[in-house]
Amino acid sequence: MTARPVMVVGGGLAGTEVALSLAGENVPVMLVEMRPETMTGAHRSGAFSELVCSNSLKSVDPGTAHGLLKEELEKMGSKVLEAALECRIPGGGALVVDRERFSERLTRQVEGDSRITVLRERIDRIPEVRPLVLATGPLTHPALARALEEAIGSDRLSFYDAISPVVEASSLDFGPLFRGDRWGEPGVGDYVNVPLDREKYEALCADLLTGERVPPHEGVEDRPEVLRAFEACQPVESLAESGPETLAFGPLRPVGLVDPATGKTPCAVLQLRAENREETAYNLVGFQTKLKYSEQDRIFRKLPGFSGAVFLRYGSLHRNTFLDAPRVLGSNLSLLARDGVYPTGQMMGVEGYTESIALGRLTALLLSPGPPVSLPPPATALGALVRALVPAAYREEGTPPGPEETGRFSPVNLHFGLFPPLPGRVRGGKAERRKAQVVRAREAFDRWWESVRRRG
Ligand SMILES: Cc1cc2nc3c(=O)[nH]c(=O)nc-3n(C[C@H](O)[C@H](O)[C@H](O)COP(=O)(O)OP(=O)(O)OC[C@H]3O[C@@H](n4cnc5c(N)ncnc54)[C@H](O)[C@@H]3O)c2cc1C
Repeated sequence: MTARPVMVVGGGLAGTEVALSLAGENVPVMLVEMRPETMTGAHRSGAFSELVCSNSLKSVDPGTAHGLLKEELEKMGSKVLEAALECRIPGGGALVVDRERFSERLTRQVEGDSRITVLRERIDRIPEVRPLVLATGPLTHPALARALEEAIGSDRLSFYDAISPVVEASSLDFGPLFRGDRWGEPGVGDYVNVPLDREKYEALCADLLTGERVPPHEGVEDRPEVLRAFEACQPVESLAESGPETLAFGPLRPVGLVDPATGKTPCAVLQLRAENREETAYNLVGFQTKLKYSEQDRIFRKLPGFSGAVFLRYGSLHRNTFLDAPRVLGSNLSLLARDGVYPTGQMMGVEGYTESIALGRLTALLLSPGPPVSLPPPATALGALVRALVPAAYREEGTPPGPEETGRFSPVNLHFGLFPPLPGRVRGGKAERRKAQVVRAREAFDRWWESVRRRG
């Protein structure tokens, strides 16, 4: 029996991975790409899998979350990772590729595969074909983005990304911090508060004003609609520029919070919100920023309790089309509002090249012929990423939704804060904890992968 054909829209990293993986299983694929006729603000060619910025796919060290994800992708036979490894150039512990060779190699592979039909066309409406994979990425053409909005609701699709830094909970000194919600009972509540007296508040504002910023991406962030979008969500350094008290009346508003150490309301308060039920990581609420990563380290480590802070993700602000994944995706990773439509890659709610390739590989697996595939366990790198997108699919029956389901969704990069905490204490500190997480991840992945391979 011939497998049902699959239409894939978008020939970026994720779309290429889906197309090649499915073709490898003898599934006929129609891959639709709008370039070179219609370009995005960042792509420069008509090649598949073009890397729009850096040529690094991050670490290959299996002791890191990114290294683990690559190890898993290799075991899953990812075609895009295979090409990256083939086109690797020296780059220390990172997988750095010759970007031209990489995308040319994949373009040849896609165009030379008789099971893939390539259509160079822009898609403006959601096609009626099922299964349909949408892999149109952070710079999805606005016409298709509007069609998607109509299908899922305008508040479920974002066009830009305002990311606050995320810090590892175990790296904080909780001594000077206190728990409490605005106007709530002191010492009780969902937020951990970082109190700032006048001197510390002014020092923070001064640092934000002088800290070095990331220059805007030419052609992407200089477009009028992008600038307008950014006005609605200003980086903290821009707020600091607009007046000395703006932050204290904005994201650092202290009202309704009393520091138990002084019995008073501080001059300003930075609130930390748990990223997951286990509270292994906290988000610096409202602290989206365009400061360079090294500057974020330098400046935020001066905050009370932050001297040893380990940032799992840095703040940023850029053009990005992404779904409110926990609310729009079902547990089979297709749209709840359009069964059989599978968003994948960055638009699904992740950030970064490797994360996007990984989701592409998983989508292909879910659409491959044979009995259904279960989602990867949360202890694996791939599973940790997927759980952040569809927490409900991983929640035990009868357990109430955690903050990852009820709070505002922002796109995820893979980091150890997304992995479930280890049961019990691990002697030897952070390094030993990481090692134990890696061992657990490998075991969980191998078990899952074996069950996938044996199905049918
Ligand atoms: C300016 C910028 C800089 C970045 N820098 C980095 C970085 O340094 N490191 C990193 O890891 N990540 C970076 N990213 C993120 C990275 O680009 C993505 O993670 C990755 O490319 C996502 O892969 P994808 O396949 O989901 O989307 P893409 O690779 O963007 O592929 C989407 C494809 O869909 C096509 N398409 C869009 N709309 C339509 C349509 N309507 N019809 C047909 N085709 C369509 C596009 O032309 C494109 O080929 C950056 C993103 C941007 C925008």
